[in-house]
Amino acid sequence: MSKRQERLPVEVDPFRLAEARRLLEGEIPLTLMKRLSPLLANAEGAVHLSLEFGVDTMGLAAMTGTAQADLELLCQRCMEPMDWPLELQLALAFIRPDVDEAGIPGPYYEPYVVESVPLRLSDMIEDEIILALPSIPRHELAQCPASEWLQEDESAATETAADDEQRQSPFSALADLNTPNKGK
Ligand SMILES: [Zn+2]
Repeated sequence: MSKRQERLPVEVDPFRLAEARRLLEGEIPLTLMKRLSPLLANAEGAVHLSLEFGVDTMGLAAMTGTAQADLELLCQRCMEPMDWPLELQLALAFIRPDVDEAGIPGPYYEPYVVESVPLRLSDMIEDEIILALPSIPRHELAQCPASEWLQEDESAATETAADDEQRQSPFSALADLNTPNKGK
């Protein structure tokens, strides 16, 4: 039987957790994630974790589980907050820095190099969340408050083909938003 622990430890030894086949459940406040929180429109709330550690048939120390959070990102088109529900499936194989990652049977596990033991559990989860974030968060166009402005731009300058639209950086779109309506 797995041992269940309700309160999350701050620091963990993933190899020992794997040998003990521990199940960790709990939450980590987003404010503790100092690299993630500047990327959020709002760092309130927490990441809910359900993590199962174990050793697989190859003798690999591994962890599977889920990380869930109701994140709020900043839409790079309109610069307004947008809901971004995180539902991350985790499957990590822990390896020591001197072990060749090629030994990890893929593609099921993602190798996670453990530089030193113990490691901060929040750091590990934060790494995975940051990897999962969209590189340019944007509302669906129909839901984006900036969409009306973008459509006006398109009809005003038909030479600005869809290609150009896509090549525009989100910040040039923002500059357009800040330009007073010249039609008035
Ligand atoms: Zn938007």
